[in-house]
Amino acid sequence: MRSFAYHRASGVASAIQLGSTDETRFLAGGTNLVDLMKCNVERPATLVDVTALPGLDQVDVGPARIRIGSLARMSTVADHPDLKATAPAVSESLWRAASAQIRNMATMGGNLLQRTRCPYFRDESGNVSCNKRNPGSGCAALSGVNRNHAVLGGSEFCIATYPGDFATALVAFDGLIHVRGRDSRVVKANDFFRSPGSTPHIENDLTVGEFITAIELPVTQSLRASHYLKVRDRSSYEFAAASAAAGLELEKDGRTIKDARIALGGVGTKPWRVRVVEAELIGKPCTEDVIRRAANHGAEGAHPLPQNAFKVTLIPRVIARALIEAVRLA
Ligand SMILES: Cc1cc2nc3c(=O)[nH]c(=O)nc-3n(C[C@H](O)[C@H](O)[C@H](O)COP(=O)(O)OP(=O)(O)OC[C@H]3O[C@@H](n4cnc5c(N)ncnc54)[C@H](O)[C@@H]3O)c2cc1C
Ligand code: SF4
Repeated sequence: MRSFAYHRASGVASAIQLGSTDETRFLAGGTNLVDLMKCNVERPATLVDVTALPGLDQVDVGPARIRIGSLARMSTVADHPDLKATAPAVSESLWRAASAQIRNMATMGGNLLQRTRCPYFRDESGNVSCNKRNPGSGCAALSGVNRNHAVLGGSEFCIATYPGDFATALVAFDGLIHVRGRDSRVVKANDFFRSPGSTPHIENDLTVGEFITAIELPVTQSLRASHYLKVRDRSSYEFAAASAAAGLELEKDGRTIKDARIALGGVGTKPWRVRVVEAELIGKPCTEDVIRRAANHGAEGAHPLPQNAFKVTLIPRVIARALIEAVRLA
């Protein structure tokens, strides 16, 4: 690990000022950043500890919107009683992530920015072909171990999955990310995460020195009737093999689907909104048959490799199961 300078910021403005070079990283819970520093993926010259910034750990659940401070801990948000009632999929996406210890430490801003678990990217020796880590060096996963890799959104440069659960729920329900740098701006979660294309090292819309201050979700009926389903190799402390955040709103007749939201985790290079399935559902009767038929479109455009082809079969199943759970709340 490279030696680094440490500063503790007392306000957002000073954090942004201290964080304004490419060699600086904000330190929140540290559960991802410190891991990556230990395996030399991240080699910052300076850490700016943001954990003491005031007022950024609040969770506010109102009738029209939910606002989550970027320094709120995952466990606080997961267990917030109003959030559980208003946004079940959001709470579930956090409960099903990591371990109790990590959720107590990790923050919501850091959670969004966690980096891929691709073993080549995290290789301690660093002597591997990995375009995300060393641009232009190739992608060892394409012909190597790729069982956990993406079937949606990959390129010839990178097929690493985005690993987070919460961002999947955020993308499904039109979440917004509040960012401060020189100026303040608000980015749609769906536009925030990037597909790898030929620049897999650029993972999101943040520029150097920009800081996430809050995350916002509009409160909709689909969010109230929502579910997060996570399929993984073991039942806790494991990343998704495939997951779905789904929500439904029915017309006043109680039978016709008025609105549907679905995003996938664990299968795409970024949280993957599946609008084709949403469009297949809207206006149709809310039956299991309709849901299963629509869900069959969920893997359209997939590019599987032999080791991860099972995800193409899994995708329609997780979508259908998540929607069927959501129907119970609609
Ligand atoms: C064993 C293990 C299992 C896990 N399992 C899961 C899982 O199943 N599902 C899941 O979703 N996650 C999982 N995680 C990931 C975990 O949720 C993240 O490590 C955690 O959320 C990161 O938050 P943090 O506050 O510790 O971020 P940090 O490690 O402090 O920061 C992460 C990155 O975000 C930057 N950053 C932090 N806050 C801000 C901000 N406000 N603005 C701008 N930049 C910022 C940092 O500079 C750094 O680059 C797991 C982690 C481990 C170690
Ligand atoms: S999949 Fe992406 S992160 Fe993994 S080795 Fe290839 S380029 Fe690197």
